[in-house]
Amino acid sequence: MVVLTAPSGTGKTTVAERVLAAVPRLAFSVSHTTRAPRSGEAEGRDYHFVDDATFDQMIADNAFAEHARVHARRYGTSHAEIERLWAQGRDILFDIDPQGGFQLMRAYPEAVTIFMLPPSMDALEARLRGRSTETEEQVQIRLANARAEIACAPRYHYVIVNDDVVAAAETFQAILVAERARTTRHAATLDSLLRGRRDA
Ligand code: ADP
Ligand code: 5GP
Repeated sequence: MVVLTAPSGTGKTTVAERVLAAVPRLAFSVSHTTRAPRSGEAEGRDYHFVDDATFDQMIADNAFAEHARVHARRYGTSHAEIERLWAQGRDILFDIDPQGGFQLMRAYPEAVTIFMLPPSMDALEARLRGRSTETEEQVQIRLANARAEIACAPRYHYVIVNDDVVAAAETFQAILVAERARTTRHAATLDSLLRGRRDA
């Protein structure tokens, strides 16, 4: 499990799309949200877009592995989504805010956590405005929340500064390669080699 967090506008979706296209066996966890779809976003690919009543019902049904109110909207990762991707044997990339990140860290301590930073606050604002997807009210909310989100970065394993998309994606992929090579993730292979015949 790979948790990716960044202030809105940093470029995490842009970098994540490159990484998802390049890395085999990595899948994106599609969250539920009560915010409206942006132009170009598709139901079931970017998010499951639901109303507040549906979101409340999912909380009551204990359907979420984590959920949070972010930028005055609600977002959550369903248990069903995690189980669906696990059943496919995929590593899972979660694009979630720090509140959700901390919930998943507690539930899944083995998760790899990455915090993406913008090169500067000016660059963050320029990217958020340049995307032209938010109302002025939402831009202000997202910028106001950015500092508190950045203050959460020390609790993550890795930091990637997204100065250049290609370089940021390469760093992300290097982290995944190294994490997949961790000794603890090869216990079954080690076990079978040690139990096997000496010449096997
Ligand atoms: P997030 O998912 O973190 O909210 P996006 O991926 O939507 O951010 O990126 C926000 C805007 O910044 C987009 O218009 C994107 O094209 C642009 N962007 C992303 N990475 C960079 C970068 N390294 N340099 C300049 N612009 C970038
Ligand atoms: P956006 O509206 O720009 O797609 O996302 C806004 C914020 O919500 C981002 O910080 C994003 O990472 C976060 N987010 C998206 N999905 C989830 C989720 O399922 N859970 C939580 N906690 N945050 C999410």
